[in-house]
Order: sequence, then structure tokens, then C-alpha cells
Amino acid sequence: MSNTPSSELHDLGIAQLTSALRSKQVSAVEAAQHFLARAHQHQNLGAYVAMNEDTTLAQARAQDAALAAGTAAPLAGVPIAHKDIFVTRDFPSTAGSKMLAGYQSPFDATVVTRLADAGCVTLGKLNCDEFAMGSANENSAVAPVGCDAPAPVRNPWDTSRIPGGSSGGSAVAVAARLAPAVTGTDTGGSIRQPASFCGVTGIKPTYGRASRYGMIAFASSLDQAGPMARSAEDCALLLSAMCGPDPDRDSTSLDVPAEDFSAKLNDSIDGLRIGIPAEFFGDGLAGDVRAAVDAALKEYEKLGAKLVPISLPRTELSIPVYYIIAPAEASSNLSRFDGVKFGHRAKDYADLVDMYKKTRAEGFGDEVKRRIMIGTYVLSHGYYDAYYLQAQKIRRMIADDFQNAFKDCDLIAGPVAPSVAWKLGEHGNDPLADYLADIFTLPASLAGLPGMSVPAGFGAGGMPVGLQLIGNYFQEGRLLNAAHRLQQATDFHLRAPEGI
Ligand code: GLN
Repeated sequence: MSNTPSSELHDLGIAQLTSALRSKQVSAVEAAQHFLARAHQHQNLGAYVAMNEDTTLAQARAQDAALAAGTAAPLAGVPIAHKDIFVTRDFPSTAGSKMLAGYQSPFDATVVTRLADAGCVTLGKLNCDEFAMGSANENSAVAPVGCDAPAPVRNPWDTSRIPGGSSGGSAVAVAARLAPAVTGTDTGGSIRQPASFCGVTGIKPTYGRASRYGMIAFASSLDQAGPMARSAEDCALLLSAMCGPDPDRDSTSLDVPAEDFSAKLNDSIDGLRIGIPAEFFGDGLAGDVRAAVDAALKEYEKLGAKLVPISLPRTELSIPVYYIIAPAEASSNLSRFDGVKFGHRAKDYADLVDMYKKTRAEGFGDEVKRRIMIGTYVLSHGYYDAYYLQAQKIRRMIADDFQNAFKDCDLIAGPVAPSVAWKLGEHGNDPLADYLADIFTLPASLAGLPGMSVPAGFGAGGMPVGLQLIGNYFQEGRLLNAAHRLQQATDFHLRAPEGI
């Protein structure tokens, strides 16, 4: 691992890059070209699934013109890339699925539009688990740029390991400096867990803060967009541009004005009460992860924060609850992929029903089919009360547990995942092994709370470990402030994998 932060273009944070662009030390075109070249150079990591140099450079030229004319938006010329779950007009949109092979959206997702309006230049689209279902990015059915067939997305810290999922390509792109910042989505942990596994910073805002319009739906009551970057400072810049009401296009978008999340980054955290949930530190937590998390918590104490023991008693139940509710919503959301409206259609079929069946059998991968079947089952007349309704009731209790905990603390801290990133193929055909690893990210998702992952050190095999911070509703600013203060006292977020 190289410990010395260098001053190469791809090592600059967004704030530094923005000032380099404004002072004309570098042009938007040069910045874009630099990252495109790096993305090609590190194709073996499988991070990008779509690039289009002409489009990227045209966007960059437009930003250079705005910079020259003095009409530049705050992030003018900053190159970013999007998880391929956001639809984009200028790049294909696949959601990691064969079902959407060749699909070209006629419009941009709101998050994509907002970042473009803020001046960002799009480098391309990033690999992800099919319809964002997964914890390892091993469920993508799409060939990465430079490959003819689907290939694993590799963790740059150890290319024999998974990057985490479902926003695996996003985390890899940031960790390997193939983009200074990216978008991701988090339904049950898909921003926080890959951020933790790849040693980058990521935040999922309060449910409803960022518009879901144009985010290909997995589980609508949980899906939420957020940024991933190297630092909390960079995440704050992106998140400020991404959030804000979108009532005409997303009915669950909250009527809460956009906020400048950079404003309070430097506030003191003296006296901050950090809740430590006992259930996040049980037997299932690997020793190396615990050690890194404990060290980060000690750092917080040095910064003046107070650690308060709390309890989130239904933590374990979040797994069955999530794996009932998310598949239920997925089974409904994915009914639109029927071969009629968009995406894949089977070539040979006898009649309409046969066309539906063959299209869906061919287009969806195993994990997606598993979830559609589970979802259909738990919503069926005979089982709705026993499974879906029960799960909804416990979801409410999980949210109440957090409100109870927040009586005694200002934010909550713990591990993101029970272990560091595992080996590619290690979980084999055991989906349950993946599901169980979601235990610490699911509770905040079910409650709709903001959560983030902050690089906290390294564990077994030199693999990164993330610290999870969870805030009460609309406390993104406080989370980013706490993360930023930790990053001023540590340098884990600045380290780069060997050979990067
Ligand atoms: N790992 C979880 C799942 O497979 C979460 C995925 C996500 O947040 N998109 O559903």
C-alpha cells in the first residue's frame, strides 16, 4: 500500500480539482481525458460497463466554455461516473441485466440531471449487481468495458476479492482513482458496504432526500441514491447537488429544500454523543473489523465525543424483514420487464404468454428470479398476513428502536459489515451467506435513516474496514461533519491500493 498521498490529478479531492479547474491549471477536457485513460488502463478491475469518449469530451468542452465565460456552476468540469442503475440519455442503461441489453433511455434520471446542472462531466456507467440485488457484485450479467462477456468486478486492494455490492463498480472506480467521485444507490447497504470493502467514503441520505426518478427500481420504499468519493468533504459537495424535492416526478421525494452539506463540516464534535449498539458488536463480528472500529471510536473520544452504550434489539430481525419486503417490492417492480415495453424480447414464442415466459426466463439472472419468486410468494393471498404484513409491523418496530436510541445519543456508530471483503466465489451458490453479511446495514435502510461508511483502518489481508455512522432523519450534515473530523485526524481515506 502506498501511504504517501501524491499530487497527481487523480489524487486530488473534488474541492482541489474544482479550484485547479477554476484557476485554469487544468481544463475540464484534460481532467476527463486523464480519467478516461486511467479507466482503460485498469480495465481488468471491471468497474466500467459503458464509456463514450465523444460524449464525455463534448460535455467537458461545454464546461470549459462555461469556465472561460465565467458562468460555471459549482462543480464545473468535475468528472464523475454513474452506477448503471441510473438511466442516462447519452449512455446505455442496463441495471446489470441482460434484460436491458441495448436499452437506451430517452431521458436522464433526476440525480444525473442535477449533477450535470452542477457542472459535472460524465465519464461513463459503472458495474453493479443485476437490479442492485447483491452484496458482492457477483450478480452482474453485463460485460465490463474491454470484455466480451460478463467478468468479475475486482477489489483493487486484492484482485482475488469481491468489491462488495451492489454498487461494486462505483466503489472500485473511486478506490482505483478511475473517477474522483461517483453515484451509487443503497437499498439495504449498497453504498455503505462496497465503500467499506474498498476503503472509500459513501453516504446514503434520508429516504426521500434524493429523487428516485430514473433510478431503475428494485425496492421502492428502500431505494435511495447517494455519492461515493474518497472523503466526506467530497461526498458533501456531491450530495448537496444531488438532493432536493422532485415532487412532479417522484411521489416519495420529500419536500425538504436542498442543503449545503459542506457548511458544517468543520464544526467541533466536542461533546457529541455517539451511541454504540451492543447488537453490532456480538459474536458474529470478525476480530479484525472490531479492532479497526474500536480504534476509530477511540479517535472520536480523543476528539471530544462521548461513547454511549445503546441497544437496537431487533437488529437480527432486520434480515428476515428486509428479505421479505425487498423481494415483495421487487416482484412488483420487475413485472414491467415483459418483453413488450422495453429491453429484451425472446425470439421464438408461440403466443403472448409464451413470449412473457421466455423473455423473463432468458432475461433475468438466478438471484433476480429467486427474489421474484420469494416476493410473489410472500404477497400471495395465503401468505400475505403471515409474512409480508408481519414484516411491515416489525419494520415499524425497528424504526421505533432507533428513535428510542436517539433519545440518548446524537448519532450511532458501528461496523458496516461483519468481515472484510471475501474472496470471489467464496460464497458459491449460497445466497444466504450474502444476505447474512447485510446485518449491520439493513436496520438503517428499513428505518429510512441516513447512514455512511468512513474508512477506519485495515483488517485481515490488508483489506479496508469501514466505520458506519447512522444519523437521525435529515442529519446528513452531522454525519458528514463527524466523518470529516475523523478524516482530519486519520489518513485511511487517502491511501491507495498497490499499483494504483
Ligand atoms: N445486499 C442487499 C441486497 O442484496 C442490498 C442491496 C442494495 O442495497 N441494493 O438486497
